[in-house]
Amino acid sequence: MIEVTIMTPNGLYKKTSASIVNVVSEDGQRGILPKHMPIVVSLKTSKLTMQEGDTRETYAISGGTLFMHDDQCTILTPAIENVKDIDLARAQRAKERAEKRLAAQDATWDVARARSSMSRSLNRIKIKSGK
Ligand code: ATP
Repeated sequence: MIEVTIMTPNGLYKKTSASIVNVVSEDGQRGILPKHMPIVVSLKTSKLTMQEGDTRETYAISGGTLFMHDDQCTILTPAIENVKDIDLARAQRAKERAEKRLAAQDATWDVARARSSMSRSLNRIKIKSGK
């Protein structure tokens, strides 16, 4: 088993045991199993799944870093939601705001910030829609 700890700026999000942690790193999809060699992985804004006992839980993760050592997996991320907790309407509103800001193309908006907001909202929408 892997002991997983997930931290966000709000503090501890979750501590759980998982038999596999599936993440999307900058180099692609990775399934992390017990006894995995020590690693530090940069995560994409993407889907994360974990086999937690009898249930396979799905999360939307907004980037971050995964650290694995001695079957202890620590994930530090700006934001993560279980698919069950994703508010689809909120994600759609965030996507529309980001679209307007990107379409405006003036110096009023921070383009990098609008792009990352777009990426977070699209990721939440995709995962909530089961894709
Ligand atoms: P918004 O503009 O709607 O706040 P955002 O992408 O700017 O979206 P974040 O800064 O990534 O939001 O997250 C702020 C907090 O709100 C985090 O705790 C995150 O988990 C939560 N959160 C953001 N969007 C949603 C959503 N659609 N459903 C559920 N929780 C969300």
